[in-house]
Amino acid sequence: MVQTKRVLVTGGAGFLGSYLCGQLLDQGHDVLCVDNFFTGSRSNVFHLLDNKRFELLRHDVSNPLYIEVDEIYNLACPASPIHYQFDPVQTTKTSVMGMINMLGLAKRLKAKVLQASTSEIYGDPEIHPQPESYRGAVSTTGPRACYDEGKRCAETLCFDYHRQHKVRIKVVRIFNTYGPRMHPGDGRVVSNFIVQALKGKDLTIHGSGEQSRSFCYRDDLVRGLMAMMATGDDFTGPVNIGNPNEFTIRQLANLVIELTGSSSKIIEQPRPVDDPTQRCPDITLARQKLGWEPTVQLREGLQSTIAYFEDLLSTGADSNNAGGVGR
Ligand code: NAD
Ligand code: UDP
Ligand code: UDP
Repeated sequence: MVQTKRVLVTGGAGFLGSYLCGQLLDQGHDVLCVDNFFTGSRSNVFHLLDNKRFELLRHDVSNPLYIEVDEIYNLACPASPIHYQFDPVQTTKTSVMGMINMLGLAKRLKAKVLQASTSEIYGDPEIHPQPESYRGAVSTTGPRACYDEGKRCAETLCFDYHRQHKVRIKVVRIFNTYGPRMHPGDGRVVSNFIVQALKGKDLTIHGSGEQSRSFCYRDDLVRGLMAMMATGDDFTGPVNIGNPNEFTIRQLANLVIELTGSSSKIIEQPRPVDDPTQRCPDITLARQKLGWEPTVQLREGLQSTIAYFEDLLSTGADSNNAGGVGR
């Protein structure tokens, strides 16, 4: 039987956080969702608001937070390149000051803290697939640095609080994850292509589309986060969580067109600066330590994500879904 805990989810009104809140409630935990609604929205957790074990607090994690909980999932941070580059100074503040506050909170409470780190830690990787031991090739000055270096510093803080103050840390490096409840204007490739295909617009490939990503379905990813949180204190990570099946962006575009039955065309647009050329997780460690591996493959995961967006677009909810930069 799972022991009931008080769990804080920062960024809990976002794409991954809102699904995590629901899963934690299903396991019988009390959940406090903290979010400043920068990219997340109340509508993502609307279905949870009637649950007596669920609380929603509007708060920016770059400010201190004094509450009482047993476990912390720190997901607060915009994840899409267009969102994290919209206010890059705020992105770094969120990652670094938010992490300090969550580690300070965990230190005071002797709580466990799980950090939602990222495959961007590896930058534009020269080693493929990427194991956790790879130290990355990251620009400190480019447009992605606010996110990449912010997340790298957050990892450093986790390990220093662990060594210096014995804080119980869990660092997870999340690889590209998609699924229902992504914001239609999120800007990441899966939601972009699906919304474009459903609206009969051109699918915008950056460059030739030969760059690769490995796409993990939301449910698999969140199961991985919860498995990591449940490990003993001796396992800190970092651990990669992602789907090791790799696709080019052009393959993804063609698959979305096939599955939506769209007559949309593919057009090429300029490649963003520092856009990584390849990315694929080595998940040996997750398999060993968490007994975790993904079960939903891209075709199946896209089908349910497409169904979600079809429903959203048919109700017109995409235009009044409150999430989005600055709202
Ligand atoms: P998202 O943008 O949907 O969610 C982020 C949430 O954090 C939003 O609800 C946003 O409003 C909130 N937030 C942002 N700044 C905040 C602040 N200062 N204070 C409080 N709340 C704040 O993105 P997501 O895909 O759900 O990502 C969740 C986490 O997972 C992020 O930390 C992201 O870096 C990490 N991650 C996600 C992916 C992915 O592919 N989805 C990949 C790697 C890492
Ligand atoms: N902090 C917080 N909630 C707490 C405890 C600490 O937000 O319950 C913040 C606190 O404001 C501080 C940060 O976490 O800025 C780091 O805490 P720590 O104890 O490491 O640092 P100190 O308070 O000694 O500066
Ligand atoms: N991309 C694209 N068209 C889009 C959005 C993204 O070709 O409309 C590309 C982007 O340049 C990158 C890949 O798809 O090579 C994944 O981008 P995303 O923003 O989803 O995530 P990233 O892995 O870059 O953080």
